[in-house]
Amino acid sequence: MAQDSPQQSTAAEGGSGAKTQKFKAEVSQVLSLVINSLYSNKEIFLRELISNAADALDKRRFESIEKPKLSPEGYAAKIRLIPDAEAKTLTVWDNGIGMGRTALAKDLGTVARSGTKEFAQKLAQAQKQGEVNLIGQFGVGFYSGYLVADRIDVVSRAAGSNDAHLWSSDGKESFSVEASERDEAGTSVVLHLADDQLDFLEEYKLRELVRRYSDFIDYPIELRVKREEDGETAYEYEAINRASALWTRPKSEISDEQYEEFYKHLTHDWEPALGRTHFAVEGTQMFSGLLFVPKNPPFDLLSPESKHGVRLYVRRVFIMDDCEELLPRWLRFVRGVVDSDDLPLNVSRELLQDSVVVRTIRKQVIRRVLDLLGEIAEQRPDDYQTFWQTFGSVLKEGLHFDPSHKDKIGKLLRYHSSRAEGLRSLSQYIEAMPEGQESIYYAQGPSLKMLETSPHLEQLRKRGYEVLFMVDGVDQWAIEGLGEFEGKSLVNAMEAGLDLGREPEVEGEAGEDDGEKKEDKDKDASRFASLLEACQKILDEHVSEVRISARLTDSPVCLVLPKGGLPAHLERLIRSYQQDLPVQKRILELNPDHPLVERLRALQESEPEGESLRTDVEMLYDQALLTEGSPLPDPARFAARVAKLMESRG
Ligand code: ADP
Repeated sequence: MAQDSPQQSTAAEGGSGAKTQKFKAEVSQVLSLVINSLYSNKEIFLRELISNAADALDKRRFESIEKPKLSPEGYAAKIRLIPDAEAKTLTVWDNGIGMGRTALAKDLGTVARSGTKEFAQKLAQAQKQGEVNLIGQFGVGFYSGYLVADRIDVVSRAAGSNDAHLWSSDGKESFSVEASERDEAGTSVVLHLADDQLDFLEEYKLRELVRRYSDFIDYPIELRVKREEDGETAYEYEAINRASALWTRPKSEISDEQYEEFYKHLTHDWEPALGRTHFAVEGTQMFSGLLFVPKNPPFDLLSPESKHGVRLYVRRVFIMDDCEELLPRWLRFVRGVVDSDDLPLNVSRELLQDSVVVRTIRKQVIRRVLDLLGEIAEQRPDDYQTFWQTFGSVLKEGLHFDPSHKDKIGKLLRYHSSRAEGLRSLSQYIEAMPEGQESIYYAQGPSLKMLETSPHLEQLRKRGYEVLFMVDGVDQWAIEGLGEFEGKSLVNAMEAGLDLGREPEVEGEAGEDDGEKKEDKDKDASRFASLLEACQKILDEHVSEVRISARLTDSPVCLVLPKGGLPAHLERLIRSYQQDLPVQKRILELNPDHPLVERLRALQESEPEGESLRTDVEMLYDQALLTEGSPLPDPARFAARVAKLMESRG
């Protein structure tokens, strides 16, 4: 539904040099959605605008490191709230980095983020279903001002420039930008409050909101207050927040609510985080961190461009957002801040990449987050389930990319299984293993339903062995990264060579019974030798081998993977974007105890070259494909053959 409009189509040139431009289509859309979804929570606009002001002060502080001129003597970074009852305006003022003409038009005229259009669509969808959470994750930012204002004027002057500009809009379709004036660099966001929003001019209300939402902002937030003295009205500014970075305060002095507000300030999330870890490390290196695991996924979680969520500070000075070096990609759902005492202020990306300091911090960050997740899993299993369903597939990537953490990640894995309702951990699985079971069995497929009825698991089920079900695309390589868990190897139940105690490697443990079975199998193999050969000839194009199965009890056939092979559903998935993927032939297994297979054997003996042998073998192969959820090479042929069979029943 989002239609792209030209980025900034000039609609009119005002007489005073004001240039009116249309918002990008997404902006109008996001604006109307913001207004509709958040109207019962209008007060968040103040938190959003104060956050923007604080970010602008951070940026100026950061740029001053290289350009000291940007912080001249006497410069004191601050945010001011200026209520004006007569004009019915509330101004959020800062002396931060400011914006020039282009930045005003670009930053406030577009939603300056990738994926906005997708987001707007998702949001509209979510809204129809009555969910408002999404909006918070995108960070409505500046536009939330329109929750309370009919018009917003932004007067801004970029640090280092003498020119100021006025951006103005009623938040409907267009905005204008024209030359203006401002005493010093920074930005004033002037909200022309709607008539029913005049409470936001009240001192007590502003104090309360700042205390609730923005107390931890590292800069003074000053409220302009009116004083009547000797019949004269005077204004003065009074700081109304504590202005110390939250993560530098001792844990015991921070309430849950303050943590929560800080989290919302950082992330714009609508809901509280699922968990947090706040730590300070002192020793050869000093750093502190305050990290959160969100409850909701950011809308671009799975996109390769999705941002990391950890901000880097050096001695309380903001250095950068999304510091990838502090956090591996498989923890990209984590949000928070890290503050180092040891990095230089002018730290560059390159320096971060091979800094020992960063490596130490990163290790610590990973450890803390995995411990936090372990704690949630243990103490709040329901919350952990929420986490797992949302971020589990991201965490699993860690097994592949950072196998050194596989023991800890292994403990955090959860899967559906052939036995239990709900999710199982590997430890629970091991605890429930019957005597004689040595390995952890898993099966991969396109859906739980398909796996539940998969013929591959018949023998395992018969023995009472539980099988973990993996239906997530990343499971394939994640599980290869894990390899084993607590000394138990992980075995793919869909792979050839699945032998529940009869293969040579476990022969040492094989009892008499197993010995007998092996003999049976050898007998089967020779009895069926010519059938196997005939099947191979008929299906040569499709399968690499036809053999007698040890895993089937009820079904006549199934297709298994060669060792380390790619499950059929993943092969199809990969082929959909990589067409030249070589075809991987699988192995057809026949159940020697099944009457159908026995019938085939007899048929092959009596009419080795007959057409009905070919038809039956092909139909069996088609059945094997159907039970695993694969498409048939020739569905019409299969349907015709089934119809014929049904007819023949009379
Ligand atoms: P976000 O802050 O989440 O990026 P916003 O819509 O709130 O999104 O703001 C868009 C952009 O406008 C910001 O990224 C920033 O570049 C600029 N901006 C907003 N407020 C200010 C301000 N007070 N000072 C300087 N730049 C600002």
